[in-house]
Amino acid sequence: MVGRTQYVDKLRELARNLWWTWQPNVLTLFRELDPALWRKVDHNPVEFLQRLSAEQLERRAAEMALDSRIDYAFRRLAEYLKDTDSWGAVHASILRARPVAYFSAEFGLHESLPIYSGGLGVLAGDHLKSASDLGIPLIGVGLLYAQGYFRQTLDSHGWQQELYWNADTELLPIESVIGADGRPLLVRVETTTGTLHARVWRVGVGRTTLLLLDANVPENAESDRSLTARLYGGDARTRIRQELLLGVGGLRAVHALGIHPSVLHLNEGHSAFATLEMTRALIEASGLPFGEVVRDVAAMTVFTTHTPVAAGHDRFPAPLVEEHLGKIREALHLSYEDFLGLGRVYPADPNEPFCMTVLALKLSRYANGVSALHGKISRRMWQPLYVNTPEETVPIGHITNGVHVQSWVAPQMHLLFDRHLGTDWPRHQRLPETWEGIETVEDAELWETQQVLKARLINFVRVRLAAQARRRDEPDSAIDQAMEALDLNALTIGFARRFATYKRAGLILQDVDRLVEMVSSSEWPIQIIFGGKAHPEDRMGKELIQHIARLTKQDRFAPRIVFVEDYDMNVARQLVQGVDVWLNNPRRPQEASGTSGQKAALNGTLNFSILDGWWAEAYDGTNGFAIGMGQTHAIPSVQDERDHRALIETLTQSVIPLYYKRDASGLPREWIARQKNAFRTLAWRFNADRMVMDYVQHGYLPAAGGVSCAMPRS
Ligand SMILES: *Cc1c(COP(=O)(O)O)cnc(C)c1O
Repeated sequence: MVGRTQYVDKLRELARNLWWTWQPNVLTLFRELDPALWRKVDHNPVEFLQRLSAEQLERRAAEMALDSRIDYAFRRLAEYLKDTDSWGAVHASILRARPVAYFSAEFGLHESLPIYSGGLGVLAGDHLKSASDLGIPLIGVGLLYAQGYFRQTLDSHGWQQELYWNADTELLPIESVIGADGRPLLVRVETTTGTLHARVWRVGVGRTTLLLLDANVPENAESDRSLTARLYGGDARTRIRQELLLGVGGLRAVHALGIHPSVLHLNEGHSAFATLEMTRALIEASGLPFGEVVRDVAAMTVFTTHTPVAAGHDRFPAPLVEEHLGKIREALHLSYEDFLGLGRVYPADPNEPFCMTVLALKLSRYANGVSALHGKISRRMWQPLYVNTPEETVPIGHITNGVHVQSWVAPQMHLLFDRHLGTDWPRHQRLPETWEGIETVEDAELWETQQVLKARLINFVRVRLAAQARRRDEPDSAIDQAMEALDLNALTIGFARRFATYKRAGLILQDVDRLVEMVSSSEWPIQIIFGGKAHPEDRMGKELIQHIARLTKQDRFAPRIVFVEDYDMNVARQLVQGVDVWLNNPRRPQEASGTSGQKAALNGTLNFSILDGWWAEAYDGTNGFAIGMGQTHAIPSVQDERDHRALIETLTQSVIPLYYKRDASGLPREWIARQKNAFRTLAWRFNADRMVMDYVQHGYLPAAGGVSCAMPRS
């Protein structure tokens, strides 16, 4: 009996900290306890452990001789949590007493905590994970969306359906934060029309903590209880109330825990109200005037902008701003007009709405875009804010995004790295020399590893397609066909991401006859796996999904062009690990960075992309494929037409021939050489450890009062 509780307790402990999500051994441990149930609960170990009785767990653990592995995993977690030998201990020790508060409207940590919609959230999740690995004192602040974003299905017409359901907080890896009075912590934010309340949850992400505010409390008016139900749902009033909770409520929660951050990091403008709350708190404490305090707040604030499109920035009409920020405005002793001016490029223009990005830029001394190109675009876009400052010297630099390697690299590839790069490669992932060892990998070994991943993906897709067909009550023949979809030997292209218009999911489909030719080629066939959600309000995005869904039904494309529903971090992981080529064709320069291609590169999947975002600085002619040469055109349709031509040209003249050019042993030697070039030139640069270290050096340390070091620019 003693042994039993011990194992169950240890497993529960492991399930409670998201550290397990980037430990292949712990992940396997959960899965092996009951593979079918593991899949059924969407890889959620909290729910998994609740569904298994202590007896079942005990029996399974004994049968599989898992006891020593459970002990080992538990010990490793304990060691990880108390490890003080980290990069941060040496390079960021000034943050120890007063950590960074990192604000984001979404966090993509794992599919079992669905509080993200896309790249912005996944980036924030990866940031927390790398901050944990590096030992950077940092606390995340976000919102708990009980209904998350949405689960996507397609109906029999290929039309996107959005499903929402309330998450059971008992089944999430979260715990209630308790206040000084021993009761669940409740934060309050006063507006001119009433008070908003939120309770606070805590998520363990390795050594970092994420706080999530949740408006579903009895203290709130009925209509406000669903305020944080959905991510990016609702009208402008819902948005500003969510953002008020995130920025003002979030900082109050941090302060209520006795944490006094030395740095505020705003991941996108949604959380910019945090700077006003910080100013208010400092004025209250010091009695100093706004003008003085606001300079100190700007000096401690790092702002990362993500949107290269003017219309993509949150803007609110003045009355909504006054309703929600009026109380804070009074505490800041600012007039109505002066306050609104904080969110305007031209403060005196009464017709200009209040823009969160403008507020964030005015109240932060360290601002950056998320790739070199995006930094440049942002300087151009916001130049009017900086009177008499030429574009080149606008104070917006860039820190290019990166991904959390251990979260995105396939276990098989992880093992291959262990064998050739040394088992401590994760700790040295940001050094170029770490990746030199990739050249010692035999071509056949790399190829076989990728084939294994591809086979696993094809199986995953087949099972998904069959389930989709079954749900739509399609005939058995459709289900049989689903189970035979795709061909292991065909060049497989993946395209999956949010169906935002600028990402042009339909570009490769523009010339249908050409596509038919390529897909049905008996010699050099290609196949395409699509996935992605359209925002519920985005009609064009949904039409595009429908267009693709209809193509997948046509006999000439049927088993070779497929659409996997409900794109999430799980589907993303499978795809980037298993396809041969990762296609990305945004309308330059609208992709601020993009990160899915970085995940692909870590798995030997070659990028085939427009020179936009990160790829514009990553592509070197040998480490993947470029579409076009980075041209743009004032007329979008002209640019699209040109890019489509370039896409087909690169595909038919480079990608396909290189893939099918095999030597006597059946290996595509030149393809494999490109894969190795990709590992060698990309992995050390585009990982989240490097990214977080850049933020420490160019943002956090100077903002915390350490040495100043300008944001990089180019
Ligand atoms: C990585 C990731 C993204 C970002 O992909 P982009 O191609 O950069 O837009 C979006 N959604 C999910 C689920 C991801 O894992």
